[in-house]
Amino acid sequence: MEEIAVIGSCMVDLIAYTDSIPKAGETLIAKDFAMGCGGKGANQAVAASRLGAPVLMMARVGDDAFADNTLANFEKNGVSTEFVTKVPGVSSGVAPIWVDADSQNRILIIPGANMHLRPADIAAAGERLSKCAMIILQLEIPLETVYAAIDFGNEHGIPVLLNPAPASKDLDIDHACRCDFFVPNETELEILTGMPVGNNDEIAAAASSLLARGLKNLIVTLGDKGTLWMHGEVRQHIAAPSVKAVDTTGAGDAFIGCFAAQMAKGASVEAAIGEAIQYASHSVTGKGTQTSYATAEEFAAFKS
Ligand code: ADP
Repeated sequence: MEEIAVIGSCMVDLIAYTDSIPKAGETLIAKDFAMGCGGKGANQAVAASRLGAPVLMMARVGDDAFADNTLANFEKNGVSTEFVTKVPGVSSGVAPIWVDADSQNRILIIPGANMHLRPADIAAAGERLSKCAMIILQLEIPLETVYAAIDFGNEHGIPVLLNPAPASKDLDIDHACRCDFFVPNETELEILTGMPVGNNDEIAAAASSLLARGLKNLIVTLGDKGTLWMHGEVRQHIAAPSVKAVDTTGAGDAFIGCFAAQMAKGASVEAAIGEAIQYASHSVTGKGTQTSYATAEEFAAFKS
């Protein structure tokens, strides 16, 4: 099987669980602490790899202990790290998170080394990338690098999947529409098109505005309602299975990792979406982000 190239972000979540949030100048003792590997790129790479696809990660990490943690996590999950490089004197991407007694999150994202992944890195890895089955992108790295990767995919006939998250008003929609698969959630679609997404017809209208700009496939993830896939004149809603949701963090990343793994195995787009919905829906039944991503065996057991 050909490799899936994920060109994107690595973050380390630093989660403090606290009964109350300190005011300015105040110091409090919190209840608990956890550290987790994240970043949309890393999550998608780990999901695809757990399903047995060969995955190449291209990312920048800092010159610190968080970087070693990220690299060890990729190795544990079978993701190739030859193109994950350290940037001297720069922090890794980190996300300090405060979770209060009502489970409300307050999150700061420090992109750090992620913003050092440059278009030149795409060119430098050209030989390896040109043999990949698919290129996957998100928006937690510089937009110029995202555009360079889209152009590379177009020039070399490699399908490009762009997950426009977190939604950025600075995204050049016409350039983004040159990807093969555009995969936003409802909120991202609303922000990027400036159109309402309150019901299926509104979502379809917003989606159509992107297809009118030359986009080939738009796959909108709709949480517990599954996805809407639009291509050409075709509009297809694929439902999600009913599950007991415990934690939906990272569900969209699970969807993308599984979709890419299925496409790399030669599945049709429709079949790949069907599997990805089930995989993502399974992920919401477990706590955490990467910790809730099933292996191929666990996923087979869930479906049977
Ligand atoms: P994101 O994490 O980007 O916001 P979504 O919330 O749209 O993405 O979820 C992605 C996929 O995860 C959905 O298409 C669906 O398959 C699954 N999913 C998310 N929430 C639920 C839920 N409550 N029940 C079942 N499946 C869910």
